[in-house]
Amino acid sequence: MLSRFKPTWMIENIFSISPQFLLDNNINCVLTDLDNTLVPWNSKQGSAELRDWLLDIKKYGIKVIVVSNNSHRRIKEAVKDYELPFVPRAMKPLTIGIRHAIKEFHLTKKNTVMVGDQLLTDVVSANSCRVRSILVKPLVRNDAWNTTINRYFERIIWNKLIKKYPNLHWK
Ligand SMILES: [Mg+2]
Repeated sequence: MLSRFKPTWMIENIFSISPQFLLDNNINCVLTDLDNTLVPWNSKQGSAELRDWLLDIKKYGIKVIVVSNNSHRRIKEAVKDYELPFVPRAMKPLTIGIRHAIKEFHLTKKNTVMVGDQLLTDVVSANSCRVRSILVKPLVRNDAWNTTINRYFERIIWNKLIKKYPNLHWK
């Protein structure tokens, strides 16, 4: 039961995920959450850090695709400067968005990773799809109101997770 919430890796933030780490783990596609993973939830645009990270990742032929529960409009505006494909209304923790991305972009699960800042949505949907996952810390400390509710339950699950899996730690 608890294993549904267990991320494969935990890394401080998405910009710390290096191309080498991905290549070493046979990953050629990064599916990523949008809000508080790629851009702050209350921001309409990315950052220089995001631009540099994307340039670096893409140099190695690694794809980056946004899989977000947010609307087409919100994602389009946030990523407009970065030529990033995206799947809106992904309905995480359901698997709809990830499965859609896998089909549309002809991905193989074993070469794909899902990155996100929430155990209850990003990690659960990846685990349900049998796709590896990377949990990152949220870019800003506060959240949209609906996420605040998730965070309450997330804290409870988190405490159980670290008890059961003492080897889980932030890289
Ligand atoms: Mg998020």
